[in-house]
Amino acid sequence: MENLAAQLGPLNSTHAPGSTSRTGPTVAIIGGGWAGLSCAVECVRHGLRPTVFEAAAGVGGRARTVGLDGLRLDNGQHILIGAYDATLAMMRTVGADPDRLLLRQPLALTFADGFELRARSGSRLGLAMAFLGCRGLGWRDRVAALRLMRAIGRPSGKDETVAGLLARTAQTANNTRHLWAPLCIAALNTGIADASAHVFACVLRDSLMGARGASDLLLPGVDLGQLFPEPAAHWLAAHDCAVRTGVRVRAVREDARGFLLSDGTAEDVFDHVVFAASPHQVPALLGDLPRLSALAAQIGLLEYEPISTVYAAFDTSVRLPAAMTGFAEGEPHWLFDRGALGGPAGLTASIVSAATMPREQTEAAVLATLRAQHPDLPAPLWVRTITEKRATFRCTPARVAIEQPADARIALAGDYLLPDYPATLESAVRSGIAAARRISAPSP
Ligand SMILES: Cc1cc2nc3c(=O)[nH]c(=O)nc-3n(C[C@H](O)[C@H](O)[C@H](O)COP(=O)(O)OP(=O)(O)OC[C@H]3O[C@@H](n4cnc5c(N)ncnc54)[C@H](O)[C@@H]3O)c2cc1C
Repeated sequence: MENLAAQLGPLNSTHAPGSTSRTGPTVAIIGGGWAGLSCAVECVRHGLRPTVFEAAAGVGGRARTVGLDGLRLDNGQHILIGAYDATLAMMRTVGADPDRLLLRQPLALTFADGFELRARSGSRLGLAMAFLGCRGLGWRDRVAALRLMRAIGRPSGKDETVAGLLARTAQTANNTRHLWAPLCIAALNTGIADASAHVFACVLRDSLMGARGASDLLLPGVDLGQLFPEPAAHWLAAHDCAVRTGVRVRAVREDARGFLLSDGTAEDVFDHVVFAASPHQVPALLGDLPRLSALAAQIGLLEYEPISTVYAAFDTSVRLPAAMTGFAEGEPHWLFDRGALGGPAGLTASIVSAATMPREQTEAAVLATLRAQHPDLPAPLWVRTITEKRATFRCTPARVAIEQPADARIALAGDYLLPDYPATLESAVRSGIAAARRISAPSP
């Protein structure tokens, strides 16, 4: 995500304690997900006084810790990559050391049918070498893969679907099945028939063709809460900023004093307001600010895709051959051995992207795949599925680009605001930083 890094300027990885302003402008941040928390941290660094309002009992939003049978698990298995510059810097700022909390491994796509791609480094050359040495690709496939990589290095300016891009660059069925379709659904959570080729190309450029290490997979070795949201909340508290969990903002009004936020019982006044709720929740929050009704309508046009994570607990002696395995067809798309990632031994997490089947059917399909792949696997001790119905926005060429409001005292933050990127932790963090910088900039 180099272009955006250049736009945002350097991110300091440390913050001098004690620099919180006690007199600076106040900022209400509605939403304690990764965007809202990053925004709050960045506000502090700019001498603003943020207060975070989070409706849920804990922080983290769509990337949070949940309690299941006494275990601390995630609402959904997440993967970060080496190109997540802003996220990694933000983690460092709040004292969450990414080198300790994330297991870094070179990009390795290991498929249940024997296909294997291993990138030795994130450089363009490393990727070319990976294609050349890929197990399961013939020469026609390799040449076609390099043709696509060359094509996305020269953006055409007009968006199309990923399927259109694959056809235009004459991709083989093998490449589509093992490379582009799984990478597209993993990165955009939208299938190739509908996904935006422009966004897909941006992701490939930043990761597979990016700087050394950009395509590395960073697999969380702790639950999502410990990765960033909880250290961020502690860091904010240590800087005299309130993180008010369990408080749902019901209305935002405006008068001569500033922005009035109400949770239905009390009202607080702030100089600035940042809307860092999920995009489907933002239009209602803008309801009492009639001059933002066109913006609310635009955000209301976004469509969404679900993701299901099926947790299955086996006997603690169960160990899968790889920490992460891909499946070219059917459910799940990815299987994780959480025991190999610092979690409870014997616990597996299966991801079904853009999931549309009912829960029982999803679980049955996932378990059938696991049994087919690992015939010695005993019956699971328990199975639990968490489905996030609006996990990400639907990343198609038709997605509307959302502009910030004209009034610089108001900002939006969230993973849906970067036109070149899909809904990711990195988009959320970058949008939060950008929102803080926007409202801290002196008025023209
Ligand atoms: C299952 C799943 C798997 C994913 N996998 C990956 C992955 O592997 N890699 C990756 O990079 N990304 C992944 N993502 C996407 C990533 O989690 C999101 O892009 C990111 O968490 C969005 O953060 P956000 O802060 O923009 O929004 P949110 O996390 O949605 O935060 C918004 C917050 O606002 C709060 N809120 C809303 N309304 C109010 C109100 N009125 N008052 C107070 N609070 C309010 C909500 O409770 C919520 O906590 C995944 C998402 C899901 C769901």
